[in-house]
Amino acid sequence: MPRFFDTKIEFLKGVGPQKSALLNKELDIFTFGELLQHYPFRYEDRTKFYKINEIRDSMEHVQVVAKIRRVETIGMARRKRLVAHVEDETGSMELTWFKGIQWVSKKLVIGATFIFFGKPNLYGRKFSIAHPEMEPLSEAKEEKSFYQPVYPTTEKLRIKYLDSKGISKIMGLLLQSAYPQIQETLPATIMTRFNLISKQEAMRQIHFPENEDILQKARFRLKFEEFFFVQLRLLKLKLTRTEKYRGQQLGKTDLVGKFYSEHLPFELTNAQKRVIKESFADMRSGRQMNRLVQGDVGSGKTMVAFICALIAISSGAQTCLMAPTEILANQHYEGLKEYADKMDLSIELLTGSTKKSVRRRIHEQLLSGELQILIGTHALLEDIVQFQNLGLAIVDEQHRFGVAQRAKLWAKNKNFYPHVLVMTATPIPRTLAMTLYGDLDISVIDELPAGRKPIQTVHRFDKDRLKVFGFMRKEIELGRQIYVVYPLIEESEKMDLKSLMDGYESVCRAFPQYPISIVHGNQKAADKEFEMQRFVKGETKIMVATTVIEVGVNVPNASVMIIENAERFGLSQLHQLRGRVGRGAEQSYCILMSKYELSKDSRVRLDTMVRTNNGFEIADVDLKLRGPGDLMGTQQSGVADLIIADLSKDAPILTLARDAAQNLIAEDPEISQPQNAMVLRQIKNQKKHAVNWSRIS
Ligand code: ADP
Ligand code: MG
Repeated sequence: MPRFFDTKIEFLKGVGPQKSALLNKELDIFTFGELLQHYPFRYEDRTKFYKINEIRDSMEHVQVVAKIRRVETIGMARRKRLVAHVEDETGSMELTWFKGIQWVSKKLVIGATFIFFGKPNLYGRKFSIAHPEMEPLSEAKEEKSFYQPVYPTTEKLRIKYLDSKGISKIMGLLLQSAYPQIQETLPATIMTRFNLISKQEAMRQIHFPENEDILQKARFRLKFEEFFFVQLRLLKLKLTRTEKYRGQQLGKTDLVGKFYSEHLPFELTNAQKRVIKESFADMRSGRQMNRLVQGDVGSGKTMVAFICALIAISSGAQTCLMAPTEILANQHYEGLKEYADKMDLSIELLTGSTKKSVRRRIHEQLLSGELQILIGTHALLEDIVQFQNLGLAIVDEQHRFGVAQRAKLWAKNKNFYPHVLVMTATPIPRTLAMTLYGDLDISVIDELPAGRKPIQTVHRFDKDRLKVFGFMRKEIELGRQIYVVYPLIEESEKMDLKSLMDGYESVCRAFPQYPISIVHGNQKAADKEFEMQRFVKGETKIMVATTVIEVGVNVPNASVMIIENAERFGLSQLHQLRGRVGRGAEQSYCILMSKYELSKDSRVRLDTMVRTNNGFEIADVDLKLRGPGDLMGTQQSGVADLIIADLSKDAPILTLARDAAQNLIAEDPEISQPQNAMVLRQIKNQKKHAVNWSRIS
C-alpha cells in the first residue's frame, strides 16, 4: 500500500488524538488503510417505512412515521425512564429513553410528527423501541439513503459520537481523499474473466452503496480479492517448497515388504493402501512431502503412519511421530513398540515426563542415528532434539498443532527438510482445508476397516438416567466396557470437577459390584496413567473421565460412550469422543445426556450427532454453527486475513479465487510479468503488515 494508507488516523479531519486513541483501543484501527477496511456489517434500508400494525417481533429494525400523543417520566433516580406514546392511523406504540432524558424530552412536542427508527421489542401486546433515532418529519431530507451502512462499534465509542453514524461520517471524509489513491490489486484478465468491479469502485460502494446490485458487486469483488491473495500465498508457499526444498529420496520398501508378509495383523483397507501409495510417491520423488491425511476416527491412521515410517527407515532415515497429549503418545508408543520389536527396530518415547538421563540418551542416539523411531509430545519440538537424518516427521491429530509448530519440525535436520505427514481426525470442510492447509497436499481415508458396525447414537435427558444405568448394566454383563465423560472447561473448573466427582459417586453407587476408573486433569500423571492402564487391561469396567480421553485412546472392548452435559461440548469434540468406541467387532453405542432445555445451537449439535456418523458432514455443520474464526489454529493460517469473506458462506467465491490464483501461478510462477505487477505489489504490502506469514515463508 502506498504511504497514504499507513497514515495514522489521528491525522484524519474530525478524528484527532482522543478519538484515534479510542479507535486504536476499541477496534484495533490505527491507520487510514485499516479504517477503510472497517466494513459495514449490514445496511439499513431507509427508503422503507412501516405502519405500526405491520411491525413484527422478528424485525431487526423498523422506520415509522408517528405522532406524539403523550410523554411521561416513570421511576426515580437511576431507574428513571422517559416514555413517549406515539401513534399512526393503524395503531400505537411506545418509545423509551433511559439516558439523555432532559435533552430528548425538549424535542418531544405533543402533536408533532417524527420519523422514528430502531429495533422493535414486544412488551405485553405493545411494541416499544428503546433509544430510537428520530427526526421531525418536517425537517426530513427529500432523499433517504437507499442503504444506510451499519458499522461495528462499541459502547465506549458511541459515547464519543463514534456510533455507526459517526463512523460513517469520518468514513465519508476519509474516502474523499483516499479514493484517488486506491490502486487496483488484480490483473485485468482476472477482472474481465470474473466480471469484477474495480477496487476503487468496490471500496466506495461497500461504504456508500448506490443500490443493491452494485453493493453485491462490491462485496463479491472484495471477498474474491481476500480469498485470492490468501490462496496465492499458499500456492506460492507450496511451489517454493516443492521447487526449492529437495526432499530426501526415500525409494526403498524392504521393511514394508517384510512387515506385510510377516506381521501385518489385518488386511489394509483400500483407502489406507491409497494413502500409503500417495505418500510413497512423494517420498521417493526427490521433492519434499507435505501431506495432510484426513481420516475419520477409527479409520486406521496409525497403521498408515507406521508403514510410512517403514518406508523412511528402509532407506536408512529416521522417523518421529508427534502426538498432542502424553496419554496418546504413550499409547502410540505401546502400540507401535510391539510392531517395532518384531521388526527389530529401535523405538523410544520422549515426553515432558521423560527422565533427564533417558532424555540425554535419546538425544545422543538421535544424533548418532542409532535410534530409528521417536514417539513423543511437544517435547519433540524443543531445539535440543536434533536428528542425524530425520526422513519423515509425522504429526498426529493436527488440530492441536499450528502452522508455526509444523514449521519447527522442518528444522530438525541441518541440511534438508524431512518429509512431513500430518494426520487429522477432525475432518475439515474442503473450503476450510484449502485455506488452513492450502500449502499441503491432501489425502483422505474415506473408508473404515471392514466389519465395523456404525455406532448407534441416541440423545437422552437427565431424567432417563435410571434407564441408562440399566442399559450400562446389560452391556457390562455382555463383557463390554463403558466410558462416562464429563466436560471440563477452564472457567468453571471447580464446578466441573465437582460434577465429575458427583457423577463418579453415583456410578459407584449404581454399580457397587464393578471396579471403576476415574481420570481427570487434576490427577498426577502417574495416577492418570495407572487408572488408564487398568481400564485398557479390562480390569475396570467403567471409565469416568473428563475430556482427557478425547484424543486417540484406543480400547477396542469399550463399546459404550456416555457423554454427560453433552450440550456443553462442541460438535467436533462430540464426534471425537464418540470415536473412542466402535473400534471392535461389537455393536457400539453413544448416549448423549443433556438437560431438558436446550439452546437452538445445542439442539442442532445433538441432532446432528444422532443423525450421522460422517465426520465430514459433521464438520460442515460445525463450520456453519461456529464460523471459521473459532476453529483451532485459524490465527496463523490466513483465515485471520479474511475481513469480509466468510469461509462458511462464501465457498463458491473461494473456489473461483483459488482457481484464478492457480492459473496465475501456472502462467507466471515468479509473479514477475508486467501485467501482474499489481499483484506482486499487493503481496509485498501484505507481507509488511502480516508478521505471521513472513516468518513462515
Ligand atoms: P485412527 O484413525 O482413529 O487413529 P487407529 O489407527 O487408532 O484409528 O485405528 C483404530 C483401530 O482399527 C485400531 O485398533 C487398529 O488396529 C484397527 N485397524 C486399523 N486398520 C485396520 C484394518 N485395515 N483392518 C482392521 N482393523 C484395523
Ligand atoms: Mg489416531
